[in-house]
Amino acid sequence: MTRSNDSHSNAISRRDFLSQSGSCAAHLALAGSLMPRAARLAWTRSSYATVVAREPFGTLEKIADGTWALISNPLSGDRTTISNGGIIAGRDAVLAIEGFNQPQGAVWLAGKAKELTGKWPTHVALTHYHSDHANGVAGYLTETDHPIVRSTERTRDLVIERNKPDDASRIAAVRGATLLSPSDATTLDLGGRMVRVVPRLGHTDSDVSLELDDPSIVFCGDLFWNSMFPNFVDAIPTKLAASVHALRRTKDTLYVPGHGALGRAAEYDRYVQMLDEVERAARKAHAAGTTPADAGAAFTLPPSLGEWTLFSKAFYQRAFEAWYKELT
Ligand SMILES: [Zn+2]
Repeated sequence: MTRSNDSHSNAISRRDFLSQSGSCAAHLALAGSLMPRAARLAWTRSSYATVVAREPFGTLEKIADGTWALISNPLSGDRTTISNGGIIAGRDAVLAIEGFNQPQGAVWLAGKAKELTGKWPTHVALTHYHSDHANGVAGYLTETDHPIVRSTERTRDLVIERNKPDDASRIAAVRGATLLSPSDATTLDLGGRMVRVVPRLGHTDSDVSLELDDPSIVFCGDLFWNSMFPNFVDAIPTKLAASVHALRRTKDTLYVPGHGALGRAAEYDRYVQMLDEVERAARKAHAAGTTPADAGAAFTLPPSLGEWTLFSKAFYQRAFEAWYKELT
């Protein structure tokens, strides 16, 4: 991984690296290498929850009774989890959210579930196929524990087709998945705790959110990135915008992003405004006949939107490319 963003050779290796990998893991690993240390340390500070466990790769934060969010610190260089995730427990069942980047990430979260709830996860949900959310899913399956893995059919297929390196245990785990409806919400009854799994799209071809009503909590997957510019590699920007608006609740809500710290309305709305800004610029540049590369190079976010971790103009270019695909 490159450590500097100013030399010609690093620019080339970065481009090669990006072209080889469509995952958010690659996007974040690169981001971390270029991020100032102070910003890296601020990543997992949260004022919305109580930290119950801290590891180099992230912190487990209690966000409600029987509900915890893992806020990963992908910029630490530790690649065990990379994505955020979580645990939701009811009387009878325990749901783990995300498969993480490596099986050790799933094993760790499952161990925490056991410590905190007395149970190894009985259900696992994947929000989308990207390797940093799915590649470790086999870590939940043991000699004695066989949680029900839930994903959409499209997510399952994309994990099998695209995620590298090939891994027989991962493929077996997702082949055995119980499929979520691509059109209707699925309600999981964990025993006194109902979780709605809602099919969405826009970050990829198939995303799901996991939603609680009381207290109001939404696990957004990668439909929400807090303070970090998102990866548009598979994005369908108009669908992403629609999903992002649909996820926003009028009542006070805690949003667990796919990457970055927990957010409430202020952080979520700042993200929506940032996406709107990208859309405005992309439509304007497209109408003017500017190339995505030139448009990306010329683009900046207004200071009023606060700090967004952005490490290379290539990420803006990727967002413009996604928009142009839809506009052309
Ligand atoms: Zn993703």
